[in-house]
Amino acid sequence: MIDGRTRLVGLIGWPVEHSLSPAMHNAAFATRKLNWSYVPLPVRPEALADAVAGLAALGFRGANVTVPHKEAVIPLLDSLSPEAERISAVNTIVVEEDERLVGHNTDVAGFIAALRQGGFSPEGRSTVVVGAGGAARAVVHGLLVAGAARILILNRSRARAEKLITELGADARVQALPLIPEALVESARDADLLVNATPVGLWPDTEGSIWPMEVPIPARITVFDLVYNPVETRLLRQARQNGARTITGLGMLISQGAAAFRLWTGIEPPVDAMRTACVRALEEKSDG
Ligand code: NAP
Repeated sequence: MIDGRTRLVGLIGWPVEHSLSPAMHNAAFATRKLNWSYVPLPVRPEALADAVAGLAALGFRGANVTVPHKEAVIPLLDSLSPEAERISAVNTIVVEEDERLVGHNTDVAGFIAALRQGGFSPEGRSTVVVGAGGAARAVVHGLLVAGAARILILNRSRARAEKLITELGADARVQALPLIPEALVESARDADLLVNATPVGLWPDTEGSIWPMEVPIPARITVFDLVYNPVETRLLRQARQNGARTITGLGMLISQGAAAFRLWTGIEPPVDAMRTACVRALEEKSDG
């Protein structure tokens, strides 16, 4: 129940109505018996500065930040965590006791945690990342820090992949290629991990896949799809049917949410309750 003592956090994005985060975080607060509430905050791009300034004024403890504000929010904050600074993207704001706004990026930790929980150790491994947007930045940075031996980035716009490499200050382990089916299949031949960091396969276009239908995915490769709606995407189905190991985007969503929960509350997050709430919210969405 919301009362005069309820602490608030929210989600700043545009749009926000399809997000699973309110269900996930409110389930976590209920499980830990915290008098906290997580509210959707639909914020148009032109209203972002007012909205962010309003967080401290309204007594919020913080917020998540999603599309399209993850980069635009940076100049509005007082300081950044090293990770947020490195990848130039913020997905979590903490309002400190003195009302200073600190930007964090929990997608990096969320990706690596989900990868390890899925049974994949990135140290010394050869990897292929498809996409060069905000999520790919978190993935590539996470793989670099975790010690991957090689990262090939395939993107529709090769220039954007090259920009990502320059801006991350990446070393010779990282290379950019255009996203064409032949290049993807060739790159994956010797790789240990394939990550989809594009929206291809996302509901409602669930028949889409970055991998060509007529080519089997090598069974030795682990396939991680950041898309979590549906939980098993077409790409993951192709991988599973060829005997490859799969990791769903839901694990990353929960891990990045768990890291944000920890930053706001200082309490260990109830990840099982968070997962159950996400799965239930996804089922409700597909029902109607
Ligand atoms: P973004 O910044 O808009 O970047 C989108 C990327 O996908 C770009 O590289 C773009 O290529 C590429 N792309 C878009 N449509 C494509 C198509 N039809 N064919 C090939 N490439 C295409 O988006 P983002 O924030 O990185 O998010 C990407 C996906 O990751 C989304 O589905 C998002 O929901 C998911 N995600 C999941 C989590 C999680 O916790 N599981 C976290 C973050 C994001 P161009 O550069 O050529 O346009």
